[in-house]
Amino acid sequence: NENPEYNVPVAVKDAVFSKVPTEPLTGKLHLVCVSEDAMKDILDLDPEVAETEEFVDMVAGKYLPEGGLTVCHRYGGYQFGYWADQLGDGRAHILGDYVNRKGESWQPQLKGSGETPYSRFGDGRAVLRSSIREMIASEACYYLGIPTTRAAALVVSDDHKVWRDKSYSGAARQERAAVVMRLAPAWYRLGSFEILLKRKEPHIMKQLADFVIKHHFPNIPSDDPDRYVKWYSEVAHTNLDMVATWQGVGFTHGVLNTDNVSVLGVTIDYGPYGFMQHYYEHYVPNTSDDAGRYAFNKQPEILVWNLEKFAEALEPILSDDEKQRIKDIKNTLANYVKNKINVTYMRKLGLSEVRDGDEKLVKDLLQMMQQTMADYTQTFRQLAELDVSQLSDVTSLESKWSLVKVSKASQWEKWVQKYCERLEQENVNEEVRRARMLKVNPLYIPNNWILQEAIADAEKNDFGKVRLLLKIFKNPYEVNEEAEKLGYSSQPPSWSYGIKLSCSS
Ligand code: AMP
Ligand code: MG
Ligand code: MG
Repeated sequence: NENPEYNVPVAVKDAVFSKVPTEPLTGKLHLVCVSEDAMKDILDLDPEVAETEEFVDMVAGKYLPEGGLTVCHRYGGYQFGYWADQLGDGRAHILGDYVNRKGESWQPQLKGSGETPYSRFGDGRAVLRSSIREMIASEACYYLGIPTTRAAALVVSDDHKVWRDKSYSGAARQERAAVVMRLAPAWYRLGSFEILLKRKEPHIMKQLADFVIKHHFPNIPSDDPDRYVKWYSEVAHTNLDMVATWQGVGFTHGVLNTDNVSVLGVTIDYGPYGFMQHYYEHYVPNTSDDAGRYAFNKQPEILVWNLEKFAEALEPILSDDEKQRIKDIKNTLANYVKNKINVTYMRKLGLSEVRDGDEKLVKDLLQMMQQTMADYTQTFRQLAELDVSQLSDVTSLESKWSLVKVSKASQWEKWVQKYCERLEQENVNEEVRRARMLKVNPLYIPNNWILQEAIADAEKNDFGKVRLLLKIFKNPYEVNEEAEKLGYSSQPPSWSYGIKLSCSS
């Protein structure tokens, strides 16, 4: 679609992308941070290039890399359970495909780069705080083993200001605009197909489905008569594998609308997300989610719900037989994700398989954690760091802020005993147990309070902490002295309890 009035919100027809130029950030620009690995490993660029004016201007949307073009993707979505119709890239521009040295194809995208036909009521911009949150979380998730989009660089302007209401005060105020360069093999969402159903464009849907399968699902031959069923299965299972990794580290996305779920099974659109601090199964980081639809413990079932909507969207291109077989797959999804999560917890406990009674073992632990507000990350970490004999000695645990408190001492002792029996069943010795667990239970997580401190500095153009965080989260499993000095594995400051984030970003 080539709409001459490119930056006016319109209902676009019969198109998957709109060619739209960026609206560059104005004023004095700063490079806030850069992901060295994303630059080197994905974009084949020396990270020092990011320091140049040329690179900063490119991220700010001032010019295109050679051979590039800017397009905005049209998609729809179910927001909080209701069909919201056309959404699309309202403040993002895809810069085309880049095939790197390794032969991988990536689509760099600018987010915060101006108005598009999909901007609806928005201004096409992103502010510094939310851009920092996206940048750090996408890189941190990558190193935590969570399938995710990446982020290469972040640029902010001193002078380009936009209006936002900050959730806690409710008052509108001006904030500085920023642009993040994000990276993904492609940016298709479940909503990319839903819009084609709702707008009755099955010819485009077939074309798009075939294109996406051909270019992004190498396991499925593009002429396979069974390709749509196989594709649905892969989209569903990769997304459920992804949500199981979230549950393992307490990541709560915050806005799991169908437009925020990638067809590629990677985490996209980091907004009002939160990494859970003390364990609370109904943790909700997003202030606009009053009903807790996207609470931590609801994420697996929400993904399944979203995948049902996706199956519905594909119906116009499916035969009756294919519809039936997709229905059969759908019926297995809830169980599939439940098993995946059980496996995740077994790994966190140093065990390699799921046996009868394991679900209860995990449930009992989580319940105690919830009752005593034990920290989700640090409890598992200390289970990995301490010797089993230390674990059963309740008095020695009193000094550990993270673990289940002694108020639950007798329950705790019983649990440790059960855990020991279970380790014996699998013949896991202490050395093996701890070595395994130290590899999957991180010490550092981008909790909201940690991000908040880095954001406060960055608002004053001190980007040291943001850059330090990128370094720390590159290796979240190993003790980092600077992180320890800043208390990143210690009890969070009291002001940080109950931080919530708004969608306004
Ligand atoms: P989200 O809830 O962040 O996934 O966004 C939902 C829709 O709103 C997407 O179509 C976004 O592109 C659009 N959107 C969010 N913020 C803005 C903004 N500041 N300007 C234009 N569009 C926006
Ligand atoms: Mg989104
Ligand atoms: Mg967003």
